[in-house]
Amino acid sequence: MPNPADAVPTTGQPEPGAAPPRAAGPARHIRLTSHAGGQGAQAIRWGAPSAAERGPVVGSTTNRAHRNVIGTHSGSYSVYRALAVAARALDPGHRPDLTNTAPTDRIGPHPAWSEPGKIVSLDPWGAEIGTCFADALAAGYDIRPTIAVTKAHVILPEIIEAIQKGRLKPDGKVLLPSGGALVTKAAVEPVWHLPGVAERFGCSETELRRVLFEETGGMYPELVTRPDLEVFLPPIGHLTLYIFGNPADLADTSVELTARVHDECNGSDVFGSDICTCRPYLTHAIEECIQGAQRGGVGLCVYYRKEGRALGEVTKFLVYNARKRQEGGDTADQYFARTECVAGVQDMRFQQLMPDVLHWLGVKKIHRLVSMSNMKYDAITEAGIEVGERVNIPDDLIPADARVEMDAKMAAGYFTPGEAPSAEQLKTTKGRGLGS
Ligand SMILES: [Zn+2]
Repeated sequence: MPNPADAVPTTGQPEPGAAPPRAAGPARHIRLTSHAGGQGAQAIRWGAPSAAERGPVVGSTTNRAHRNVIGTHSGSYSVYRALAVAARALDPGHRPDLTNTAPTDRIGPHPAWSEPGKIVSLDPWGAEIGTCFADALAAGYDIRPTIAVTKAHVILPEIIEAIQKGRLKPDGKVLLPSGGALVTKAAVEPVWHLPGVAERFGCSETELRRVLFEETGGMYPELVTRPDLEVFLPPIGHLTLYIFGNPADLADTSVELTARVHDECNGSDVFGSDICTCRPYLTHAIEECIQGAQRGGVGLCVYYRKEGRALGEVTKFLVYNARKRQEGGDTADQYFARTECVAGVQDMRFQQLMPDVLHWLGVKKIHRLVSMSNMKYDAITEAGIEVGERVNIPDDLIPADARVEMDAKMAAGYFTPGEAPSAEQLKTTKGRGLGS
């Protein structure tokens, strides 16, 4: 059994410019976790058939001897938690009071939770720690949920417009007369099983650990010093699910499932930028999900925080400028080339891990996939999930300036019910200039 987090004493003197002593308790030595030791939580047996055999994921820092993973909770927000401690706003010893935080809806367990290699990037038991690990919690282990499930009403202007135009009809059950749609939503933080993630990316675990260590500037030394710790809580964005209808129906192949897996595009999704189709496609998917749920089916939108094809928004905006300033203007035939010039790749979303969330929900068949992405379709079907109909974005929802992206993607293999544009046509699809 690995016992993480042994204290390695340092001189005890703060480094020049170091953070002030913590709010609670005396100033402590810096603890490196490159050696096993102490009474750790039980080792994680990833993919074990029950929660008890799998063991809890202990990534909290309140008792370092209990930790059995690399990294810590809350993904990228772990850095803000560190800032809160540095600013003395947060007691580093604070343990969450989880009273009344249990999920509103139970998900699973499903057979895929323990099928080898089916789920490698989230903890399927992450919402149920209160019931699965009650004994360990009572014994003093600071186990934190990595998944939370709640209820909400979502109100979107496009849905209100769809009601006004008669495309949607409020039924008081799925859709209210006010335009509010009733959803169950879940937030899921990444929990990576490193051997499984390496397999998905076709590299060795050693290689994956080394690259993760080096490319984060050496942020997590345990990646290379603690091969016994197989689980990593990476400092990246999480994903959110919006479920229309009964969540339990997601696992029932006889119930029609309408689904979209959407990757974040803040500029369009929130601010309505017209250079791409992200928000129009997302709201179209929500409309389809509502209609599906009203037909007695269930709808699902998965929202991944992978801004700008996981290149980040700075890179994305640089690409926009490069596209619009290039000789001949922003044309569809140069769309991917400009991204590759700036980023080195066309896309960093790598859909290999995406289907995990579908396995968590027990999805085995998507009757209507609201996506034209061949990469998402391939990842879903290669994961053993059947896809029925593919639903494209209606032409009248594509903003004029987004035609460049859409034509380039269709020519590159995106699903289209019609003809994909030819190489000649791509040269003529042109977007706005920067000044207009
Ligand atoms: Zn977009």
